[in-house]
Amino acid sequence: MELGEVREGKARILVPKAARIYDAPVFYNPVMAFNRDISVLALKVIKPEEALDALSATGVRGIRYALETPVREVWLNDINGEAFKLIKKNIGLNFKGKIAGEDKMMGEKTLVATNKDANLLMDEKFRYFDFVDLDPFGSPMPFLDAALRSVKRKGFLGITATDTGVLCGAYKNACLRKYNAMPLRGELCHESGLRILIGAVVRYIGKYDLGFKVLLAYYRDHYFRVFLKMEDGARKGDELVEKLGYVYFDHKTGKFEVEHSFLPSRKGAYGPLWLGEMKDGTFIRALLNEAEKSELSKKKKVLNFLNMIGEELDVPFFYDIHRIAKRYGLEARKSEKIVESLRGRGFLASRTHISPTGIKTNAGLSDVVDVLRSLQ
Ligand code: SAM
Repeated sequence: MELGEVREGKARILVPKAARIYDAPVFYNPVMAFNRDISVLALKVIKPEEALDALSATGVRGIRYALETPVREVWLNDINGEAFKLIKKNIGLNFKGKIAGEDKMMGEKTLVATNKDANLLMDEKFRYFDFVDLDPFGSPMPFLDAALRSVKRKGFLGITATDTGVLCGAYKNACLRKYNAMPLRGELCHESGLRILIGAVVRYIGKYDLGFKVLLAYYRDHYFRVFLKMEDGARKGDELVEKLGYVYFDHKTGKFEVEHSFLPSRKGAYGPLWLGEMKDGTFIRALLNEAEKSELSKKKKVLNFLNMIGEELDVPFFYDIHRIAKRYGLEARKSEKIVESLRGRGFLASRTHISPTGIKTNAGLSDVVDVLRSLQ
């Protein structure tokens, strides 16, 4: 395997040279440096003792956690033998002279490289990790249950899903099969996909008498990412079930309606999905605070993104101004202008990170159409 060196955050990483990233024998996607930057910030705030990068590929994620955050012990695992060799090389490159054993490095930090099926490893390490990171190809669902057993009862989870086509309804059957949920197509598909993913975690976690709090859930660059803080107790699991529900969407008018219910009350429901919070204000402020002080790979983008998330109204779903303008024969107007006008009329309103043309508000569709009409 021909290798080249890249720098990301504080890490030096050997990655395979290949014309296209999916052809490489070991996977490295530079676009995901943003995802890893946010994750580094999350670990700086969470301060886990033991963390697992369950699907590690080159090791870049776990190595960055070890170099850039207070974590004491990081496990880096991949089922692929080539990846395992590269993980060890990359650990050697970044922690020169400190390697105690072949797969294990002791010093102020401990790094453990393993070459196992992630589910097997997570079941061996029952309730061992403070933080478990699932960053797979496509859906995290094959690994979710074991991750929920491997993380401590008051630990944290980071979950990536890159199967946006599935969660957004381009492959309906795959969504029914993998997430046991009916996906929604159209302008709300990304938010509903993100909420379906969290809703699936709700339905998996409850049997362990556990709950969680969403620290941050976002969509970007064709992937979803969720950080959850686990909460111990059957009551916490019950509280989550209360926040499950459905969305009804009229493609003709753009009207949406949410229903908090375990079962849908009528036909045409999309879900089940999570209707609860998508962020924790204190966590976002702490991420921003760390981001200001940190050397990140994409610092400016990270700061802009976190500021936007911080200001976003945390209500389910939004109005897509371009789609609404088209439906009602009106000219679209800038999102900022619509937000300002809605606020002027006494409504809560904000932009959303999910779409540049989306508006989150407590106003109804007719109010949004009125505002748009008044701006013609
Ligand atoms: N987390 C990495 C990063 O940030 O660069 C990227 C991981 S890549 C998307 C997914 C990795 O999961 C691949 O390297 C693949 O070999 C590994 N993988 C797939 N199935 C696995 C399994 N059952 N157990 C462990 N690793 C697995």
